[in-house]
Amino acid sequence: MSEPSVPLFRPERVYVEASVQELPYTQEILARLREQMGGDLDIEVLEDGRELKAPSRLTWAKKGLLLTRFRPDEPLREFTAMTVSTGRPTYSLNLISNCHLECTYCILQSYLANNPVIAVYTNLEEVFEKLATQLDQLPQGSIIGTGQIADSLALEELTGLHQKLIPYFAQQDRVRLEMKTKCADVAPLLDLDHGGQTVVSWSLSPTKVQQAEEYKTATIAQRIAAMQQCQQASYQIGIHLDPIIHHTGWEKNYRQLIKQALGAVNLEQVAWVSVGTLRFPSKQVRLMQERFPKNKRIFNNLKSTHRRFMHYPDRLREVIYRVVIAELKTWLPEEKIYVAMEAEQAVPAAAYVVAS
Ligand code: SF4
Repeated sequence: MSEPSVPLFRPERVYVEASVQELPYTQEILARLREQMGGDLDIEVLEDGRELKAPSRLTWAKKGLLLTRFRPDEPLREFTAMTVSTGRPTYSLNLISNCHLECTYCILQSYLANNPVIAVYTNLEEVFEKLATQLDQLPQGSIIGTGQIADSLALEELTGLHQKLIPYFAQQDRVRLEMKTKCADVAPLLDLDHGGQTVVSWSLSPTKVQQAEEYKTATIAQRIAAMQQCQQASYQIGIHLDPIIHHTGWEKNYRQLIKQALGAVNLEQVAWVSVGTLRFPSKQVRLMQERFPKNKRIFNNLKSTHRRFMHYPDRLREVIYRVVIAELKTWLPEEKIYVAMEAEQAVPAAAYVVAS
């Protein structure tokens, strides 16, 4: 077996909510964890997983696992900003929350500040039951993403979640599932019956940015190789040039990245490419400075807006979009390219969240 592209998640604390303790999916994950960690697990059973909620250091939070119950009546939430950006109704299915990888700009640092663990929701049968009715009511062509508050693939070797979701979505043709990741370990996906209803998407950055700002993630070459593997297994793929980070040589580096990625894949099997410049809540600046004190350059040129978001000045964003989109258009038709999250004036801050 090849080496994993990212460090495996090996929690130091494991909590299980009593109401999901006996569920088959909970037991499946615990069995895998015992096998992977070589023996007995010290598990704390909680009456209610929400007992854990408290502001905590994110580095500590990334070492805890909670298996818990998905509570909302409707498992899907409309991802308003993305619906506006893509012109396609877009929803989030957040069955994992938080991520053990370490991107300096990750918006989950502020969005999940009250979550001292990585949570996996294991009442899947209940979720599937509710999805069965909800999916029928969604507009044809809707997209459901699992990468809004987690990296879709980072915990797959532990949870096997998408090995259940992908065949489930293959049974209908109304909506497509979108996974979004910075990992490259796609082997478990390749033999699944996906029915063309899953798009596997990667966030890409120039290698210089990946090495400086996306700790623990797969290299860009590994991600592109994973794209090729997925295409060989007849998946459509997506690419997210998001966040685009301004840096010395950015123009050359992004052109080169586009060439490297799009030159390596079958363009017919590219569902979409998004572009979006760096942005995060202003309150996250302090957290980033504390967690990554050496990463000062990421703040270059950013300014805070009245909406309390850090982003590049309009003029710089325009230049970046013009250059990157012009380059993309030499490879792909315009309808496959969209600008992410430019609807930010129209939606509440929570709707900006996009992690992986
Ligand atoms: S940006 Fe994505 S991959 Fe990086 S830490 Fe956040 S969720 Fe994980």
